[in-house]
Amino acid sequence: MFLEPKADNGRIEVITGSMFSGKTEELLRRIKRAKIAGQKCVLYKPIVDNRYHKTAVVSHDKNTLESIAVKNPEEIFNWIDGIDIIGIDEAQFFNVALVEVVRRLANMGKRIIVAGLDMDYMGKPFAPMPEIMAIAEYVSKTNAICVVCGKLASHSFRTAKSDKQVSLGAENAYEARCRKCFNKGMSNQANLF
Ligand code: ZN
Repeated sequence: MFLEPKADNGRIEVITGSMFSGKTEELLRRIKRAKIAGQKCVLYKPIVDNRYHKTAVVSHDKNTLESIAVKNPEEIFNWIDGIDIIGIDEAQFFNVALVEVVRRLANMGKRIIVAGLDMDYMGKPFAPMPEIMAIAEYVSKTNAICVVCGKLASHSFRTAKSDKQVSLGAENAYEARCRKCFNKGMSNQANLF
């Protein structure tokens, strides 16, 4: 499905799932394969994400690739001359303007690979990912493993109390959980807090 030979038409690919599900690993894998195929790639991430390293996208397994950190999605247009493939990591931290930016890039003939969380800690759709999934040619859902029961996990369960949609750089405050264990944890927290 994700053949590296240069596409004649632009396209949008989405890699989405819970925390610890390997989204960044999959994004880096696709970009590395495209580089081997001699294609020009650029990787973006939101500037709010300063975990580990300022100018690299680093997955949890320390796999790394250089990236450009930008604040607004429109800045992506500044570095796309001669570029075939544009990767965007942690896309859920960009504002909704990313939807239009991604659509325009694909219409210019670029291959866009967007990785990000599908749901927040409440289990609610995490904008702007739902809109990007809707306009994408390909959507891949990645699963983690539920730390409670060992089944496939689709939810990011927050073990610490906070009002933020996602606490940045605080992976140890989250667990990957299946739907059942997520719901169980949420109702326990509702009683506790
Ligand atoms: Zn479970």
